[in-house]
Amino acid sequence: MNYYISGENDIPKYKKKTKSNCSKSKSKSDHKHQNKDCLLIVENRPYLASYCTVCGKIRSWNYCLEKCEGGYRELPKEEVYSKYKDLEQIAIKDLFVKYVPLKAD
Ligand SMILES: [Zn+2]
Repeated sequence: MNYYISGENDIPKYKKKTKSNCSKSKSKSDHKHQNKDCLLIVENRPYLASYCTVCGKIRSWNYCLEKCEGGYRELPKEEVYSKYKDLEQIAIKDLFVKYVPLKAD
């Protein structure tokens, strides 16, 4: 192993993808995301989140925090569930999931 810094880096800073090359996104977002608040349940822990009701894309999630003396504390899940009992609860595997499973109707 050597740790010489060559100053030359082969990785280009901006790697632009060609538009025709995005086979990954099968369902293009041809809609306006309809974001709705919900509780994401991951391993029995609730997180405050919002997702799109059309495609299920998770827009954001947050820990359920509460201001307290000297900073913030994470709310116990019982408090979260009672505080946000009106929100839909969606269980997902982990927080790396990009989409929530949508109810088929
Ligand atoms: Zn959407």
